[in-house]
Amino acid sequence: MSISLVLASANPDKAQEIAAILAEASGADFEVIGRPEWVGDVEETGATLEDNARQKATALCDATGMAAVADDTGLEVDALGGSPGVYSARFAGEGASYASNVAALLDALQKAGATHPHERGARFKTVALARFTDGTELVAEGVVEGSIALDPRGEGGFGYDPVFVPNEGSGRTFAEMSPAEKHACSHRGRAFRALASMLVDVSRREST
Ligand code: IMP
Repeated sequence: MSISLVLASANPDKAQEIAAILAEASGADFEVIGRPEWVGDVEETGATLEDNARQKATALCDATGMAAVADDTGLEVDALGGSPGVYSARFAGEGASYASNVAALLDALQKAGATHPHERGARFKTVALARFTDGTELVAEGVVEGSIALDPRGEGGFGYDPVFVPNEGSGRTFAEMSPAEKHACSHRGRAFRALASMLVDVSRREST
């Protein structure tokens, strides 16, 4: 059986990444549809990444009558006690741009006195969640460990990519990698590959 999934993300940067990762991981087992324009934004008011992912997937599932997939990502920085975490999109304030969030992060680390690479440990965490019309869910998490660069580097990616140096990237930031290299080790890649294999299991179980 093939499952049709509607993606909750309105962020085209993320939607493109997610559709590519799911297609790569699942082959023809399911098709991914972008969020319809008529479905409004869902407020992310949860205390955890999983709560936010659930809010988005449930709203979209209810609005479309289709199985929905949502994710939420946070950047946890050790020297900042795990911040910005669930507040990563608005670290520099409500509606902040990617560039101002990055500037606020570098500033906060400077103020915290974390000026050496070994003091700038951080990780990206993604929770990916599929919600079905009968209320059942699949939940997967992906993590990538790394550190925050002293200055932004690279032109690719989005968000904090110019300052995130994954441990397995030979010292490059995510923004200095190709999309395929980033997907191979990224938080979102890991979370969605895990979710894809759970979805494939469900669709194969249901077709037997
Ligand atoms: P979201 O809630 O999943 O949209 O992610 C929250 C914020 O984290 C985004 O606004 C971005 O600033 C940042 N973010 C999420 N994923 C990534 C990524 O893959 N690279 C860099 N920044 C990201």
